[in-house]
Amino acid sequence: MKLIDAHIHLFGQDEWADELAVSVGHINSKQHVDEWFQKLDIVHGIVMGNFDPLPDVYDFGPGYSYCVGLEGRQILRLGPDKVPAMVEEHLRRSACCGIKLYPGYDDHYLTDELYAPYYELAEKYNKPVAIHTGQTQDQHGWLKYSHPLAVDDLAVKYPNVQFILCHFGNPFLADAAAVMEKNPNVSCDISGLLEGYEDLDEYFEDKKYYIQMLQGWLSYGDYWDRVIFGTDWPGVNFPNYVEFIRRLVPRKHWQAVFFDNANRIFGLGL
Ligand SMILES: [Zn+2]
Repeated sequence: MKLIDAHIHLFGQDEWADELAVSVGHINSKQHVDEWFQKLDIVHGIVMGNFDPLPDVYDFGPGYSYCVGLEGRQILRLGPDKVPAMVEEHLRRSACCGIKLYPGYDDHYLTDELYAPYYELAEKYNKPVAIHTGQTQDQHGWLKYSHPLAVDDLAVKYPNVQFILCHFGNPFLADAAAVMEKNPNVSCDISGLLEGYEDLDEYFEDKKYYIQMLQGWLSYGDYWDRVIFGTDWPGVNFPNYVEFIRRLVPRKHWQAVFFDNANRIFGLGL
């Protein structure tokens, strides 16, 4: 079965990313990712951008698309009047399949006027806006900005834009489910739901209640056609995470979750 990994980060040579990859049993290199994609029949990867939106920073070659990454503080640093044109240049490219926002790692609300031009650009180019929702990786984040309920305002204000709740708002699962149930223009990805390498038998036993909550809220609304597989590499082990999602998601939804939904929502044309 062919898979699309709709949520990875490629940091290049970077001490922090090198250590993270090693800690999950991998090596931080694009070639290593390519090899694992081949082994697992992952035919396409979507890179969530972590760089300033300069013209030539996002070139990952065939088999990869990217969402141009933005943070409020970064927009202020680069100039709020300059950044929309930079982002538009990316959105014109077929390899750029959307925009990625990082509230929670950044202290601006999604409804801040600073972000308005990017929702309008997403609508103009018919490309989705993926949004970090839920827990942040360390204590330096602010959860009030990354709460999935914040996306409800956007979904109402921009009905023609598709918004993606990255990480299904974890652990604000009920809130993410409410936003998805109400708004047909909100999807989620199920990346980064466990960190590192886990013995899955043990994990499913130790975290039984969490797993039940995840499965329960993913099944709560009629939205399996809006649930997208992604890993959040380099934070997870590839085969371990694919197996985790196979156990989590009912088999009858695998084709949609592992391939069809990302292909349609990100307009990949695969
Ligand atoms: Zn991520």
